[in-house]
Amino acid sequence: MIIDNYNHVLIVGMGKTGYSIAKFLKNKNIFISVYDSEKSIHDIRKELKDINITNYYDGPLEEKYLNSIDCIALSPGVDLRNPVLKNAIKNKIPIINDLTLFFKEINHEKTKVIGVTGTNGKTTVCTLLEYLFLKAGYKAVSAGNIGLPMLGIENINDLDFIILELSSFQLEIKNQLTLDVGVILNITEDHMDRYDTFDDYAMAKHSILEHSKKKIICVDDEVIKKWNIEDAIVFSERIQNNKKAYGIKIEKNKKYIVDQSNLKIEITNVNLLGRHNQLNFMAAIATFKQFDNKFDEIDSVLQRFPVINNRLEWVKEVNGINFYNDSKSTNVSSAIAAVNAFEKKNIFLIAGGDSKGQNLSLFSKALKNKIRKLYLIGKDAELIKDACKSLEVEIKILKTMKEATLQAFNDAKPEDIILLAPACASYDMYRNYIERGNDFKSIVADY
Ligand code: ADP
Repeated sequence: MIIDNYNHVLIVGMGKTGYSIAKFLKNKNIFISVYDSEKSIHDIRKELKDINITNYYDGPLEEKYLNSIDCIALSPGVDLRNPVLKNAIKNKIPIINDLTLFFKEINHEKTKVIGVTGTNGKTTVCTLLEYLFLKAGYKAVSAGNIGLPMLGIENINDLDFIILELSSFQLEIKNQLTLDVGVILNITEDHMDRYDTFDDYAMAKHSILEHSKKKIICVDDEVIKKWNIEDAIVFSERIQNNKKAYGIKIEKNKKYIVDQSNLKIEITNVNLLGRHNQLNFMAAIATFKQFDNKFDEIDSVLQRFPVINNRLEWVKEVNGINFYNDSKSTNVSSAIAAVNAFEKKNIFLIAGGDSKGQNLSLFSKALKNKIRKLYLIGKDAELIKDACKSLEVEIKILKTMKEATLQAFNDAKPEDIILLAPACASYDMYRNYIERGNDFKSIVADY
């Protein structure tokens, strides 16, 4: 039996992670029951057809589901504040997650594990790291929060590096794990529908440091810089007076990432726009350098790294107007980063959706003098309009993405930018941010 002492595990939440846990536990001589509040039992049964499932539950989570089990395996989509789960904790029923199981499988001697967390930029940095390691000749894979579930990695002990994208929801489960490097990119307000306070959210992210042999953090971040982590390797737009620091240097109109010794990596013409992506490059280089000091083609590898879909993705130019899709911008700070990536351009911004209880005054403050017009769609359009009164730009509320895009297209002139950076979750109008981005792209494709 692989998870010591447990006989019957209830998997709570049957998304990608829940399924990966069920498949992982198959044939491990453990009873498995599954629960999901919304998914139909029929669909779950179909997905898990070759696994012996003891009980299927749906609807609200009930105490009686815990009667015969001795362990809960939680998916990141499920709120740990659910009263039944709180009671389970009180009654000392262990709550584990995919990370717990992953660390029981991994041979740490051979395979190095890197964890990346932060409010924004996780996917970008993990993908960058995977790309760098592969180009440098290593066997590497990135997995976790989105994309490939970590329990879905094949032949995990044949790999040199596994890069885990870790959300606060995964980190808030108490686990015994050791990361060779843990990275925190930034901490700004998000998921306030899942945390009582911003501090709870920040502390979930902070907990990655307790598990990391080496810690890499961004000290430009207002929250992180106050922590004063003594032994951390830091990165910043400004070069820090610290021998373990990575920074940016501009020389004769060229931009470089530098450290305190002789590292100098040019990033002038990379495909990823914006200062936020410079920070992402620094995080990836700082991490890579902890394992490899010899590979001397980092510059050219970074130059070739392609933009990831839905993250400041250039879509098309029509009559001199450029369209960009940043549908993955699901919070205020990522939308601000997107707008700031286009300094000195006229931006016609399309935003809106489910604002998840964020502080929208930050959005309004940061957009001041940065955009020409604002087009709002989705559930919280009125709320955002209200919060943005002081912006002194025209704000239009539209029913659909199609109407918003058309309005922006009618208003924009050659050299202008039309940017989709919603600052909100997409679930009020779409299945996810990918569907939202695809909608925008297909509308623009017809122009
Ligand atoms: P995550 O996996 O953390 O959601 P992504 O790399 O998918 O991060 O990017 C999410 C959104 O945040 C995108 O809109 C992207 O343009 C923006 N973004 C990426 N890196 C940063 C950063 N370092 N700071 C702020 N915004 C960022």
